[in-house]
Amino acid sequence: MKKPIQNYWALRLEQTRKALEKNNFDVFVAKDGSEAKDIVLNTIIPSIKPRTLSWGGSVTLVATGLYEALKDDARYEVLDTFDKKMPKEDMAELRRQALLVDVFMTGTNALTQAGQLVNLDMYGNRVAAITFGPKHVIILVGRNKIVADLDEAVKRVKGYAAPVNAMRLDKKTPCVHTAVCEECKSPERICNTWTITEKGFPKGRTKVVLINQDLGF
Ligand code: SF4
Repeated sequence: MKKPIQNYWALRLEQTRKALEKNNFDVFVAKDGSEAKDIVLNTIIPSIKPRTLSWGGSVTLVATGLYEALKDDARYEVLDTFDKKMPKEDMAELRRQALLVDVFMTGTNALTQAGQLVNLDMYGNRVAAITFGPKHVIILVGRNKIVADLDEAVKRVKGYAAPVNAMRLDKKTPCVHTAVCEECKSPERICNTWTITEKGFPKGRTKVVLINQDLGF
């Protein structure tokens, strides 16, 4: 076989696509972040015709270029919850408003082979929006997020994604110094609410873009 790694990931993504579709998610497969951006901008969003857009914490969303492409797009009312200049109280209100947008975009902390989305949040705005509120949800998923099962998902999130995110956000938590989850009681703890999304409901509300590239944490 000439390209075993490409073959490996093509098979893994195809198996995951089928599992997600069985779970009532709409699924799109992109070869890289740039193609994922094209799919969202030119296929998914035009099919929804949204008036309002927002997003929840996602390194993948930024890495694909979607955040830059959409944050100032005058065709939509954009609730930019990544705007670092916004005062804390205003941001909390914006996050609340973002629960009622037409399209909410984010990533996932892990995706099981059985097609389950596993997430852990600090504020809870992201997992709330994935669960209920926005009319449509778009989840961008780098291939590195795929894990065997729920146990492995929890290990991935607490053992890797959470400490790395705490580091990214300069939190005062022990994992920033040890790279290991210490089940801290820090006021800056980022691990507060878990969700497991086993099925998309209503069918097709959640669109998953599987990306054949390592993206996000
Ligand atoms: S519980 Fe605390 S120590 Fe553990 S990963 Fe979360 S923030 Fe870090």
